[in-house]
Amino acid sequence: MGIKLSNKRYMLMDCDGVVWKGNRAIEGAQSILEKLEQMGFKLGFVTNNSSLSRLGFKSKFESLGFTPINYTIINSAYGAAIYLANKCFNRVFMIGEQGLREELELHDIYVTQEYEEQLQGVCIGWDRQLTWRKLADAMKVILNDNGFFVGTNPDNSFPMENSLVPGTGAGIAALTNACGKEPDIIIGKPNRFLIDVTLENMGCTDPAEAVYIGDRLSTDILAGINAGVDTVLVRTGISDSHMKNILPTVEIDSIVDILTILNS
Ligand SMILES: [Mg+2]
Repeated sequence: MGIKLSNKRYMLMDCDGVVWKGNRAIEGAQSILEKLEQMGFKLGFVTNNSSLSRLGFKSKFESLGFTPINYTIINSAYGAAIYLANKCFNRVFMIGEQGLREELELHDIYVTQEYEEQLQGVCIGWDRQLTWRKLADAMKVILNDNGFFVGTNPDNSFPMENSLVPGTGAGIAALTNACGKEPDIIIGKPNRFLIDVTLENMGCTDPAEAVYIGDRLSTDILAGINAGVDTVLVRTGISDSHMKNILPTVEIDSIVDILTILNS
C-alpha cells in the first residue's frame, strides 16, 4: 500500500522522534524539510509536547539548524489553551512548564500553581518539577471544587537522546488514580483535535490532501486515522510496534526516506 504524494499538499508531522530527539536533530531532517518545501508542500508540525509554547518551538527549530521556513506549529499547550478559552474557562490550576503557562496566558486564562479558591479546573501538562504538593492541590480543585480536569497529552514516556523519561501521561495517571476520576478531556493525540486545528490553521479543508508522519502508533498514527488523513510511521523514535491493530498507511525508516514513497 502506498500514498500518492502528488495528491498531497499538506505534510503534517510530529516533532519528537521524527525531526529531532531531545536536543539533537534527526540526521538529514533539515535538508529533507527544505526539499519538501521547495516541492511545494505546506509543512505543519503537530506535537503532544506541552513544555514549550509555539514561539518556543520556533526557537528550537532555529537552534537545531532548521532553516526558518514557513510552517505551522501546533502543540498540546496551545490546543489546551484554545479548548479552555472556547469553553470560557479563565481561572485554572496548572501543573506544567513555562510553555503551557505562556499559551494559557496568551488566551487570557489566569494561571496559578498554588491552590486558591474559585478555580474552575486543572490543566496538567509535562512538568519536570512535578511534586506531591502540586498533585494534592490539583486533587483539591478536582474533588472539593468539582473542577474540570484537562490533560494536555497522554504520552506515558518521552524520548530523550539516549533514554526514555516519564511523560505527561505519567503525571495524569497519578492524578487520575488519586482522584478516582478520569480526565474530562486529553487534548493531544490520539485525539484528532490537534490535527483538526492544524489543518484548519493551514487552510486545508480536505483531509485527503494531507499526510501525517509520526513515530508512535498509539498516539500519532491513531490520531491520523481518527482525523481521516493518510499516515506514515517512522522508526526513529518510540517503537510501539506491538500495537498490531493500529496500521499506518506506510512505514519508512526515517523522515529522510519520505520521498521513497513516491515510488511505492
Ligand atoms: Mg513522537
